Amino acid sequence: MADAVDKRTIIIIGSGQGGYQMAASLRDEGFDGRLLLIGDEPGFPYQRPPLSKAYLTGKTVEEALRLRPPAYYADKKIELIEGRRATAIDRAARRVVLNDGQSLVYDELVLATGARNRTLHVPGHDLDGIFYLRTLADAQSLKGSMAGISRAVVIGAGFIGLEFAAVARAAGIDVTVVEATTRPLGRALSPITSQYFVDAHEAWGTRFVLGTGISHFDGVGGQVTHVVTQDGQQLAADLVLVGIGVLPNQELAAEAGLACENGIVVNQFLRTEDPHVSAIGDCCLYPSFFAAGPTRLESVQNAVDQARNVAARLMGRPTPYAGIPWFWSDQGDLKLQIVGLTGGHDSAVVRGDPAGRKFSVFCFGNGRLLGIESINQAGDHMAGRKLLAGHHDLTPDKAVDLEFDLRLYAKEIPPVARTDD
Ligand SMILES: Cc1cc2nc3c(=O)[nH]c(=O)nc-3n(C[C@H](O)[C@H](O)[C@H](O)COP(=O)(O)OP(=O)(O)OC[C@H]3O[C@@H](n4cnc5c(N)ncnc54)[C@H](O)[C@@H]3O)c2cc1C
Repeated sequence: MADAVDKRTIIIIGSGQGGYQMAASLRDEGFDGRLLLIGDEPGFPYQRPPLSKAYLTGKTVEEALRLRPPAYYADKKIELIEGRRATAIDRAARRVVLNDGQSLVYDELVLATGARNRTLHVPGHDLDGIFYLRTLADAQSLKGSMAGISRAVVIGAGFIGLEFAAVARAAGIDVTVVEATTRPLGRALSPITSQYFVDAHEAWGTRFVLGTGISHFDGVGGQVTHVVTQDGQQLAADLVLVGIGVLPNQELAAEAGLACENGIVVNQFLRTEDPHVSAIGDCCLYPSFFAAGPTRLESVQNAVDQARNVAARLMGRPTPYAGIPWFWSDQGDLKLQIVGLTGGHDSAVVRGDPAGRKFSVFCFGNGRLLGIESINQAGDHMAGRKLLAGHHDLTPDKAVDLEFDLRLYAKEIPPVARTDD
């Protein structure tokens, strides 16, 4: 007898990295019901990481950013509703309303609404030449404006700001980075690694202005000419990139009465308090095995692994989400890979050769490995993924000992099933 057809309708809101993966994984898992993927950006789902890297340098073209060719969605019967925004969720009726008035009924709803840039509202913020970078449309305007300019100011020394700084310097543009704190990449990296990146950017010719905010922008004829810092510095700029972090897109969920803090609150199965509504990716705040408190991550790994987890649950195989956080960033000739969450570490040791641009920083908390930041050391990063997936006894002494075969040791660590340890 043939298997019964799944009569459910699953709606995914947000057609970015997580939303696309959700749809793809549901089909891979054998879901044969109706599947709708709603996105407010025009076009087919694409990857964001190259927007601040290979797309800006011209090494990658727009079509190559697509997560799948257009035919994929038709083949897999994924109904992509692009360029339209979900404006309301009626949980009692299990209905989503779109900005064109369409109303769609679901059995299961997945929120993959991502995050949006924080904006800087100081005088002059609406002058031409001030850019943000989140979407392909943002990247198109930024790229178009880089040709022929000589001075750029980057506001915010996070990953996107520094990736842009590296690309701009390599294109011969004079770059100044202004950062309100005294430590670039301070939120994401250990002091050793963040200082390494500052030194590298300075060696490439970038100037840092640290520990001050932005007072206002000056301009002539509607075009930005200067960034003025709160401590009175006037920085000449033909172009400004603002990269001061993001806010989760949680208003839709909040207006539907779902708990939201810094993200849409979900349990270890990535389900909201409504059993028919899940949330994944940049928009969701979840209990992580790798952090003390609720966590919201902004990474491809997080969006992809959470989508896979929810797809498996919706197909009858629930497991607590236990994806190992990892992330990468490319800046000049430095490939940074991070595994684990190194935020709360109390000690850090270096393995390898910083002068030779190949090393890793192993971060420990209470003697336990929390994560590894690797520069041009993919082997250490991959070993780290295995270590964090299992029970190991790696000590700082072993970590720094180059005679100690880290890869072999990691290979022999069996992964553990995480429940609530
Ligand atoms: C320039 C850049 C570089 C990056 N580089 C890296 C990197 O090197 N490594 C890495 O791991 N991560 C990187 N990231 C982060 C990574 O891209 C994100 O973490 C990832 O895209 C998150 O996926 P998501 O599906 O949660 O959100 P998104 O990919 O942002 O998708 C959310 C989508 O939902 C849409 N949406 C929101 N609300 C609605 C609504 N009401 N109705 C319809 N649609 C809606 C949004 O417009 C968006 O299209 C980078 C991000 C950027 C912007």
